[in-house]
Formats: sequence, C-alpha cells, structure tokens
Amino acid sequence: MNDLRELYQEVILDHSKHPKNYHKMEDATHVAEGYNPLCGDHFNLYLKVEDGIIKDVSFLGAGCAISKASASIMTSIIKGKSIEDAEKIFQNFHSLVTGKIDKNFDINSLGKLAVFSGVSEYPVRVKCATLAWHTLINALKNKPGITSTE
Ligand code: ZN
Repeated sequence: MNDLRELYQEVILDHSKHPKNYHKMEDATHVAEGYNPLCGDHFNLYLKVEDGIIKDVSFLGAGCAISKASASIMTSIIKGKSIEDAEKIFQNFHSLVTGKIDKNFDINSLGKLAVFSGVSEYPVRVKCATLAWHTLINALKNKPGITSTE
C-alpha cells in the first residue's frame, strides 16, 4: 500500500510540475473560472465543444499540487469524450475523493484519476481535487461568474 501511495504521489507531483493542456484557448466555445478560497486555487478553464463532444480543453492558473494535477489529468481524460461521459466520470471521481465509492467499484476503470483515492482521507483537499471538475460542469452549462467551492 505504501508503494502505491508513493506512486500516486509521484503522478500528482509530475502533473503539477508539468501540467498537460496548460494554456489559454483563443477560440473556446465555453469558458469558466474556478476558485477555492480555502486553499487559494484559482483556474480558468477553456473548452471547445462540438456536437456534444469535448473536442479540446485547456486550463491556466495557479494552485496547489493537488488542484493543478487534478485539472491536468482531467483535461487529458475528458478530451474527445461526450459531455455525458465527462459528467459520468465526474460522478465516479467525486464519489472516490469523498470516500463514497461503492466497494465493488473498480477504481482502475477511472484510469489516472485513481491517484486521488487517498484524498478521501483529507476532507480539506477534496475541494482542491474537485475544483477543476466543478468548473467544468459550470463551463458546460455556460454559467456566468466564478465557480467557488464555498
Ligand atoms: Zn488546493
């Protein structure tokens, strides 16, 4: 279990240092701003959606390692997925980090998102891990204003 934890830690640090899809998107169809005042995580999310498919996604901003890694991994996972699929993945991810995942659920089916399973032991960090996802949902709804975790 410790080895696994170290591996997860490594993946999170790697993504926070070298985030994927970390740039502004000039021709985005959906944008949203997310803010977690508890930690200071603050990101802009950019999406290009066509025919219900997330064709492209990127983000830019500043935050702790967990929030940045979560945003980075999220962008790489939802790119090319339908809005419906992205929402389903978020539901499972949310259950995972809040410790409410079904015992029979195969965590490996979440791919790299599984590295956040340890977050459920740190309730304060749940908001860091889910900020990008909440921002995604609001971007898809074209909800104006800042998505705050508070
Ligand atoms: Zn944070």
